Amino acid sequence: MNRSLSEVDPQIVQIMLQDLDRLQNCLTLIPSENYVSRAVMQMQASVLTSKYAEGTPGARYYNGCAAADGVESLAIERAKQLFGVDHVNVQPHAGNLANMAAYQALLERGDTILSMRLDHGGHLSHGLPQNFSGQYYNIVSYGVDPETEQIDINMIAELAKAHQPKLIIVGGSAYPRWFDFAQWREVADSVGAYLMADIAHTAGLIAADVHPDPVPYCDVITTTTHKTLRGPRGAIVMCRDELAEAVDRAVFPGIQGGPFMHTIAAKAVAFKEAMEPAFKTYQSQVVKNAKALAEALIGNGFRLVSGGTDNHLMLIDLTATYKQLSGRQAADHLENAGIIVNKNTIPSDKRSATTTSGIRLGTPMITGRGMKEGEMQLIADLITETLEGRRSAGTKRGVREKVSDLCGQFPIYEDLNLWT
Ligand SMILES: *Cc1c(COP(=O)(O)O)cnc(C)c1O
Repeated sequence: MNRSLSEVDPQIVQIMLQDLDRLQNCLTLIPSENYVSRAVMQMQASVLTSKYAEGTPGARYYNGCAAADGVESLAIERAKQLFGVDHVNVQPHAGNLANMAAYQALLERGDTILSMRLDHGGHLSHGLPQNFSGQYYNIVSYGVDPETEQIDINMIAELAKAHQPKLIIVGGSAYPRWFDFAQWREVADSVGAYLMADIAHTAGLIAADVHPDPVPYCDVITTTTHKTLRGPRGAIVMCRDELAEAVDRAVFPGIQGGPFMHTIAAKAVAFKEAMEPAFKTYQSQVVKNAKALAEALIGNGFRLVSGGTDNHLMLIDLTATYKQLSGRQAADHLENAGIIVNKNTIPSDKRSATTTSGIRLGTPMITGRGMKEGEMQLIADLITETLEGRRSAGTKRGVREKVSDLCGQFPIYEDLNLWT
């Protein structure tokens, strides 16, 4: 039982260390990922991984839950304080499941949901036909205005009037602009619908007050904990007191069994970190860096969807620059040069979701390394150089070296030493 990891399984450690090397030596611009703190990682690796704790604090189906109760109560209290909400369920294992629980708490099968189209920046859990959401519910989709590539609230109001949804979801995975939650509340009230915000991407920005706050306007709010919020993989559901019981019952026994207590403990650590002043400084730098990167890319001749960004992410429309280059190809070229981005559809994309005409970039990770506005011009130049010189192995090698240099100046996860 007490052998070290490297003694038990050096093979898996070796593979895992490849990813540590990638995290240290590549520029990761995936907006849905982040570097968690050493403290979060340590708690995620704790003895709590073995505990069964079905139920809620004080009302468990298993004995021996004193520590589990303590951990979960602390996580709940901190999340309530961090976001200023009435009630939080901290058990969902993932964002998809948080959304599944929210729908189950509010809806019957076949009810109508109004949500954002996937190719305009929505999420698969908002109604993709192959996802449970698209199979259990009647999905009506909204998109962005074709001219501004931003949400036009009047279009949302018209769709709501025509389709009378029971639930309206505001939020997405690739929308670079703010949502005006007060306007969405008015639309929901005009048709008597519930309003849910899915803040999976922007939770960290919201917690740090650098993005409008959905809490005063929404009935339910779901978020992952591992994106800008910088915690362990997982999710939470927040709601008003009136919906607390329905939400808790939807999570367990509705869709999950035993909660992951080690992850809930790591969520509690992340919520504590998110209440420290340094977190606010970090998030406001994430936004400043996103604006600086967007400006630099535009300066280098790229077209950004909606012309820029208000949050931590942006989308490059490659069709404006290159006729033949798909998002998938661009992302692969960049990976070869040490720059990790997502391929992503752009509004009304003519290519499929696996090929795409865009790439999605975000600043949470490069900001976590300590990079500031000055480095954003450099990164925009490295992206430009890679895509311009995509047919030259020498160019990629050259960029790779510059990426290594830059990463060396902004080290991350030095001396972690958790896996010996
Ligand atoms: C990432 C994301 C999710 C789902 O998270 P998983 O943990 O991958 O299931 C849900 N909604 C939105 C808007 C997201 O961006």
